[in-house]
Amino acid sequence: MALILKSHKAKKNFGQNFLHDDFWIEKIASAVDAKPGQNIIEIGPGQAALTRLLIRDCGHISCVEIDKDLVRWLSTQFSSEQLTIIETDALKFDWKAFAEKEKLRLVGNLPYNISSPILFTLAKISDRVIDQHFMLQKEVVDRMVARPGTKAFGRLSVMLQHLYKMVKLFDVPPEAFSPAPKVISSVVRMIPLEKPLPVDRELFERVVAQAFSMRRKTLKNNFVKYFDTSILQKAGIEPGLRAEAIPMEKYVELTNLLQSEGIELNGINHTELD
Ligand code: SAM
Repeated sequence: MALILKSHKAKKNFGQNFLHDDFWIEKIASAVDAKPGQNIIEIGPGQAALTRLLIRDCGHISCVEIDKDLVRWLSTQFSSEQLTIIETDALKFDWKAFAEKEKLRLVGNLPYNISSPILFTLAKISDRVIDQHFMLQKEVVDRMVARPGTKAFGRLSVMLQHLYKMVKLFDVPPEAFSPAPKVISSVVRMIPLEKPLPVDRELFERVVAQAFSMRRKTLKNNFVKYFDTSILQKAGIEPGLRAEAIPMEKYVELTNLLQSEGIELNGINHTELD
């Protein structure tokens, strides 16, 4: 079993479920396959279960940790040649500046309460990323990699599939953590696409949010307030279908058509992420 910091009480508000099973920790580290010289950054190192192995494989990594107590403890475990600790909220960190000089490899057993916001924050710098290996709730990973026409296919699938090739690697049982979460987790590999289809991401977000706003309604009904069905037809989309039936590429086409027609879909709340 990996070393656990006995005196630390897991904080729920920081989504703290620490990995403590060596088998799974090794399995994740070998999926990452860190190599010396790579610019690896871990989100939420916690009690260093993965951190230790990444440093073993790579020599030096950086990390972003919000919990002051863990930051203090981490600084007693590793030298600055091994670990650069950035004490901050991963949602507020200036990722763009950090990735400016060298592309990043991101790793994290992410706090489940903020996993979608972290994914969307990082989507803004996908062109500065080599790859991302994340552990998330299985249900979230299933939605990320879902294919059109399935129940799990939704906003998260469309918005992330536009930017990344994603592969679900394996599931991890609750017993691998302390405290054990109520749900199964999964590890996903995300590799940014070299050339995502060109689209205005802001408008794309509004279009996709509105398309999925009422999943049981048809696209025609979800967009009735904003434009005529002829627009859907022009984009090659059957208006009587539901949002989950339409692949990502068609949403891009629709967005580009709306932009060329000057239809902006203002007033749609696309910041609430599911
Ligand atoms: N990597 C460790 C492991 O696998 O055992 C800990 C994983 S635990 C699920 C999530 C970690 O993310 C915790 O260390 C927590 O303090 C940290 N964390 C939570 N919210 C954060 C945020 N907004 N920014 C940075 N770190 C955060």
